[in-house]
Parts: sequence; C-alpha cells; structure tokens
Amino acid sequence: MKTIQIPFEPDVIVMGAGTAGSSAAVAAARRGFKVLVLEEGNCFGGVSTAGGVNEFYANLEGMGNIFSHLVSELTQFDALEGRFFKGEYLKLIWQTLVDEAGVYTMFHTSVIDVIAKNGWIKEVVAVSGSYQMRLKAKYYIDTTGEGDGAFLAGADFDSGNPENGRTLHMSLTAMFYDTGIKRKNYLPPGYEPINSVEDLPGLRGPVRLADNRRYANMTKIMGHDPTNPLSLSQAEQEARRQLVRINYYVQTLYPTYALIFSGQKIGIREGRRILGEYCLTQEDILGEISKDFPDGVAVATAQIDFHSLSKPGHAGWRQAVQPYSIPFRAMIPQGFSNLLVAGKPISGDQVALSSYRMIPTVCAMGQAAGTAVALALEEGCLDIHKVNINSLRELLTKDGMELNPANHKPFAPEPTPNRADAA
Ligand SMILES: Cc1cc2nc3c(=O)[nH]c(=O)nc-3n(C[C@H](O)[C@H](O)[C@H](O)COP(=O)(O)OP(=O)(O)OC[C@H]3O[C@@H](n4cnc5c(N)ncnc54)[C@H](O)[C@@H]3O)c2cc1C
Repeated sequence: MKTIQIPFEPDVIVMGAGTAGSSAAVAAARRGFKVLVLEEGNCFGGVSTAGGVNEFYANLEGMGNIFSHLVSELTQFDALEGRFFKGEYLKLIWQTLVDEAGVYTMFHTSVIDVIAKNGWIKEVVAVSGSYQMRLKAKYYIDTTGEGDGAFLAGADFDSGNPENGRTLHMSLTAMFYDTGIKRKNYLPPGYEPINSVEDLPGLRGPVRLADNRRYANMTKIMGHDPTNPLSLSQAEQEARRQLVRINYYVQTLYPTYALIFSGQKIGIREGRRILGEYCLTQEDILGEISKDFPDGVAVATAQIDFHSLSKPGHAGWRQAVQPYSIPFRAMIPQGFSNLLVAGKPISGDQVALSSYRMIPTVCAMGQAAGTAVALALEEGCLDIHKVNINSLRELLTKDGMELNPANHKPFAPEPTPNRADAA
C-alpha cells in the first residue's frame, strides 16, 4: 500500500464537500481552526453543483451568512433567477469562500473507513488514486449525503419507508439549450417515444430558464438502493436510458433545443438516515404551530416534497409545513462524542427528510455543525455533548441565522396535499 502525508494535523475533518460539508468547513475555518475536507468529486456543492440540481427549494432568508453570501454572489454573477441558479457559478463561489476561510481540501479522495472505539473516532481511512491515507483530527463531520462516515464508524441508521423499505426516488438532472436552429430529433432503435406528459417517467418539465436554457429534473429511478454500488450503477444507467427518451420528448416540443449537460452523478434524495439523539418525525413537522426546540440550530421552511414511492410521473404528496427547527441532537449520532452529521443524513423519518433535505436548509445545518465543533474546541471540550448550546445559538444568530421558526414563512409553491399519492 502506498501512502501520502498531508502537511499539517487538522482540528476538524469534514467528510464530503456538498452544500452541508462546504458550509461546515467554512464555518469552522472562519473561527481559526485547521479544517481538512475530503471529497470524492472535483468541486464544492455536491448535488447542487456536480449533481446539476440548480434550484433552491426553501426560503432564502435567515439561513445564515454563508447561505446569504451564496445568494448575493450568485446575484453578482447574474446567475440567480428567482430560486434557480447556475451551478457552474456556485462552484466558483464556494471555491472563493473556502479559499478565504483557509480550508484545506483534498478532492478525488474517498473516505473508505472510520476507526472508532467507544464512540470516539480515532482516524479516518481515505483513498485517492493509488494512495491510501490515515487521517486524524479532534472532531469529524459527516456530510457525505448518505452518512458514509457515521455508517463506517458503526452508527445505526434507518433507510426507506418503514412499511416497504422504498427510498425516495433518484433523478439524473439535465439541461437543454436553445441552439436557435432546428435539430434532427433522433430516437435510437428499441426506445419507446414519450408522446405526452402522462408518459413521462418522472416530474413534468422542462422548466424554461434565462439564457435560452431548459432545466429537466424529469428522470425517476425507483426501487434501487443508492448505498449499494451495484444498485446505484444500475440506477445511473436506467436514468441515462430515460434521458434518451426525454431528449426525444423535449426536442419534439422544442425542436431547436439540444441536450448540453447531465449530472456527474445521479441525484440521491434519500440514503441512510443516521440515528441521532433526537429523531425528527412527521409529528414534529405536521403540527399547526411551528415546532421549536431549545437546541434548535437551523430552521427548515420547505413543504413536504414526497414523490410517490412506486408510481412513475409527477405523483406525490406535497404539503406545506409550519417552519420548524432542527435540533442539534438530530446531528449527533447515538453513542458518539466527536462526530456530527449534517445535511441529508441527519436523524429524521422519511417524511421529515422530504422537507429538510433542501439546499438552503442543509447549508444552515452545515454552518451549525462547523460552528459547533469550533465552539467546542474553543471551550476546550472534546465531547460535543458538552458544547454550550446557548453560546452556539448566540453565535449562529450573530452569523445571520434566524433560529426562531415562527419568524420564518412556510415555503410551499406546489401543495398537492393528498397523502395517498406518497405510496
Ligand atoms: C434530483 C434531486 C432534486 C432535488 N431538487 C431540489 C430542489 O429543487 N431544491 C432544493 O433545495 N433541494 C433539492 N434537492 C435536495 C438537495 O439538493 C440535497 O438534499 C442537498 O443538496 C444535499 O446536500 P448535502 O450537502 O447533504 O449532500 P450532497 O450534496 O450529496 O454532498 C455530499 C458530498 O459528499 C461527497 N461524498 C459522498 N461520499 C463520500 C465519501 N465516502 N468520501 C468522500 N466524499 C464523499 C459527495 O461527492 C458529495 O460532494 C434535490 C435532490 C435531488 C437528488
């Protein structure tokens, strides 16, 4: 085995540089700590950049100064149109932010093992190309989207629907561009044409955007396990086959459009949900009154966006919720003292996940996680349970987070509150 040394010993290792991970890294580094990010892709932003998901599906205000910086910089680049943004610019903005904060990043690096004893993580094992590395820090933040780090450390998790095990579906997103010239519309032999909206495999679309583009979040891959490499590979290929048909459909409707981009990786809506010290449930978020927690460290505003688990097409249960807080305990995996989880894999049931998984919300969670470990280090505590929650909430508030859920508005652009459509 070949190995390679990094030139310093980090205080914090962040596993995965999606929205939550990039935000966590910036928050911790801004407070003066040495942060090492391990990311298997080649840019920051995860699903929202490499994955091609270019829409913020939650309110944009009060999500912390990291998220508000993304919004203002996207505006500066003329790359924000309502809630749609240009992912290539978001990559540049994250790069500038992590540079300013002094984050040390290793791209093309996958976490493959986490060595833990008695709830204490001692090191992570990562591979990059032909090298394997063992890396140590005082605190670790798992922002891999699927909870890889916590899972490898031995944390318990849930996944899928409690009745049938089905996870929320995966989608490969795509972008079409108006070339201004009529294209030849070609459907390879063996592929069924899509002749109407009813024949679409996934969501309706494509959505018209500025600069002659159309955004297609229209593939729907059900019944696969995104944490199983064989199943994930099959899902990627099935999505690409759907895209052959969707391309034909889009060019039938808009003959001058051509496919110019699809996600570098299929978008995973639900992987592992790591069991934390608090599990956010549908009961928490479906009440008439905003649910607040004394240890709330971020607020979710988005409607339940629960796509049907078994039916193709647009079917789904979409219901407004009163904004609610994300308790810090949902980010602490049960039994661990120097590990936090932020983003999609925090502790919650499938319904709650379908609301709090949105980009602005996971960005706020990342900021909370990064600030929490920095505060713990400042306070000299090597057990995340001992962090002073009131101080953490004060810092987050000072850094632009509105932590009172009652001061947020519900975000519900498309309510179709028929729960039967979730099945
Ligand atoms: C198809 C689809 C459409 C969506 N639509 C919207 C929408 O319109 N609006 C909205 O706000 N939200 C939407 N969402 C939800 C939202 O995009 C995601 O939930 C959110 O971006 C997840 O952010 P994250 O940081 O938790 O994870 P991710 O973005 O998944 O980031 C995880 C990162 O970790 C890296 N990683 C994974 N495993 C490892 C490992 N072992 N070692 C090293 N690195 C690793 C990955 O490469 C990735 O960069 C959508 C999601 C999907 C899938």
